[in-house]
Amino acid sequence: NRQWVLNNRPDGAVAATDLTLKEAPVRPLADGEILVRNIYLSLDPTNRLWMSDREQYLPPVGIGDVMRGGTIGVVEESRSSRFAAGDIVMPGDAGWQLYTVTHEKMTSRVRTVPGVPLTAYMSVLGSTGMTAYFGLLDICDPKEGETLVVSAAAGAVGSIVGQIAKIKGARIVGIAGGEAKCRWLTNELGFDAAIDYKNEDVGAALDRHCPDAIDMNFENVGGPIMDAVFSRMAKHGRMALCGMISGYNADGPLAGPTDFGQVLMKRLTIRGFIVIDYFPRAREAIADLSQWIAEGRIRWKDHVVDGIENAPSALERLFTGNHDGKLMVKISPE
Ligand code: NDP
Repeated sequence: NRQWVLNNRPDGAVAATDLTLKEAPVRPLADGEILVRNIYLSLDPTNRLWMSDREQYLPPVGIGDVMRGGTIGVVEESRSSRFAAGDIVMPGDAGWQLYTVTHEKMTSRVRTVPGVPLTAYMSVLGSTGMTAYFGLLDICDPKEGETLVVSAAAGAVGSIVGQIAKIKGARIVGIAGGEAKCRWLTNELGFDAAIDYKNEDVGAALDRHCPDAIDMNFENVGGPIMDAVFSRMAKHGRMALCGMISGYNADGPLAGPTDFGQVLMKRLTIRGFIVIDYFPRAREAIADLSQWIAEGRIRWKDHVVDGIENAPSALERLFTGNHDGKLMVKISPE
């Protein structure tokens, strides 16, 4: 097997020496287990959190352990009555490795549909799409004509959030880095406005694009960007706190709004959520998202980096924005 093992906890951005690519034998299967050859490895901002020992929603990856990560792969050997060789699955405890041995109970089948690329099940029809769907619909609860601001808007989650909100009749303002990403949002995804936070003052741009205040915020970034949105929320505004990527590379508390009293004065609702809590409701999201894709109402992009050896350097792209769509690594052929 080839697997990435965590050497030490990164200090700042992930460095080449924080992980080591090792060769290890694949252990024999026990009853109920399957051997999966991983094809695509999902790279997610949360990978950086898992490498740290800050307080979080899952235990940190242990030093010396295989790096945690979600994959899609193909069953190569099975001692399970539920899975046969050739099945496409998402193995439990997949990890940054070529092969995963896992139990049938921790594995879910990927029900592929002709015409939909396999990468889509890592992105719009996987947990990325579910994050957008449940965070927006359960927490922001968009109504016709309301204004939504979404940060990291051209990213995997943010771009789907905006399009679902549009389907629900809301006005969408996206915040993204760079002219090209902003142009994609307004010209191709139907966003009403896009703010290039790398080249313009976010507060002033929000005042211009949201003169009647902001009804909903789908927050992916945290820090000063979140604060700029927070301080412009409307009375009874709803904020879905999905991520705070601007703080993941630093140790210590993740920064958000400064004047917390505004939650009281404006009767705001702020709810953090983690998509894994919604997995039991996956079918609802997948049914709607599949339909919207078939109707051409939702578009998405996947960014595939070739080769397991490139996983750590590819992860960095999430923090610089140097990727175009849901980031993943191709570990072996489809
Ligand atoms: P993206 O595809 O959105 O990639 C991350 C993007 O974040 C980058 O492209 C970059 O966009 C932006 N970014 C990075 N650093 C900064 C910064 N300092 N300031 C502003 N923008 C920054 O990744 P995902 O869609 O996978 O994740 C987006 C967010 O959603 C993350 O915060 C992640 O943790 C969260 N998330 C939460 C889940 C949950 O269950 N709660 C599940 C999945 C994701 P740009 O080029 O525009 O700067």
